[in-house]
Amino acid sequence: MLADCIVTNALEVITCGGPAPRRGASQADAGSIANGAVASMDGLIVFAGTSDVCAREVDGAAGCTVVDATGCTVVPGFVDAHTHLVYAGDRRDELRMRLAGATYASIAADGGGILQTVRATRDCSEDLLAASARVRLDELLRCGTTTCEVKSGYGLTTDSELKLLRVIRRLSHDGPIDLVPTFMGAHELPPEYRGRRDDYLRLIVEEMIPAVAAEGLAEWCDVFCEAGVFTVDESRRILRAGLAAGLQARIHADELGPSGGARLAAELGARSADHLIFVDRDTAGAMARAGTIATLLPGAAFFLKLPSFAPARMLVEEGVPVALGTDVNPGGGFTPSMPFVMALACFGMGLTLEEALVAATINAACSVNRENRVGSLERGKQMDAVVINGSAIELLRPGAAAIRTVIKRGRVVHTVESSRTC
Ligand SMILES: [Zn+2]
Repeated sequence: MLADCIVTNALEVITCGGPAPRRGASQADAGSIANGAVASMDGLIVFAGTSDVCAREVDGAAGCTVVDATGCTVVPGFVDAHTHLVYAGDRRDELRMRLAGATYASIAADGGGILQTVRATRDCSEDLLAASARVRLDELLRCGTTTCEVKSGYGLTTDSELKLLRVIRRLSHDGPIDLVPTFMGAHELPPEYRGRRDDYLRLIVEEMIPAVAAEGLAEWCDVFCEAGVFTVDESRRILRAGLAAGLQARIHADELGPSGGARLAAELGARSADHLIFVDRDTAGAMARAGTIATLLPGAAFFLKLPSFAPARMLVEEGVPVALGTDVNPGGGFTPSMPFVMALACFGMGLTLEEALVAATINAACSVNRENRVGSLERGKQMDAVVINGSAIELLRPGAAAIRTVIKRGRVVHTVESSRTC
């Protein structure tokens, strides 16, 4: 067969292929080919197997890109299942405040937090929003992310929410990272609606969601279901309106306290419930029965200095598929790196390397409904791959130069010359 991109001679190709999402014992089923190779044509994988068979069966087309992965490991491009990376303004000062003992709630009460970003974002042009988000996307790409979910939610007016979603569409069109757009008008109650909650809910349900759906700007509808933000009943109303308009449901649930959000996700059959630090075993069982994926964001717990990480081991035991995301955002999601998130998942939440890899690739792809295109190195999928210097465990060494090359749709989009013999 003919290929225009061949990655060969790898110590190991970890495919993450097979039925998805993975849950329970199969969360650890990452799939490995020793002395492996992967090849693609026009951006789609045509071969995944050993380098010997590749040499016999795959012919390079004219201008074929050949990546010699001797001494390296190849894994699927990472799927970041939860980000808020389009925004204006800068809240890095909150890092220092938090280090000095401030909490998420105390910073918000002092006028910081989400509403500070909302003020800056409303005043910002599409061009400037796109330019700043492009810088962040490039950071993600260098860390191996090739598909990424992105939410609106820093506009909180119909026009500014549409503006954010148009920026997401433009950035995805420009590539190379594929973006999955989520409408999140229910990120916070805007200040002009204080004391008029019901009016804002009506605005979301009757004006924003129809406008978003009419322009085809989002695939998902998300709500911040948390004490002091949106209640379970309000979240249900918004997510149902989204579902009726063709927007699939996902939810910020049980992050700062037991909000009931995960239980609602199961009730609605939502694809994903995210954060879940306070989820209990009973609710996890309901999620498993509903097929709801747990998208965990240990980077948020880390940077917000929350009392614990999500109970990932319990979720795996209960048969809930676990996915990962960075939660890139201006106030608490300070890492662009899925490998760093995987390190937190392993050393903070007790996942194994294989479980974390599955969570960062194929299960994250399921979380954002992209499992038929990305998340594993299998025939017919996009040729999105990361070449790691050495073995896959190198990913769990934050700060080490683990990632050598990033490939998106069969094209090398990032590469670092290694000083190692590789
Ligand atoms: Zn979030």
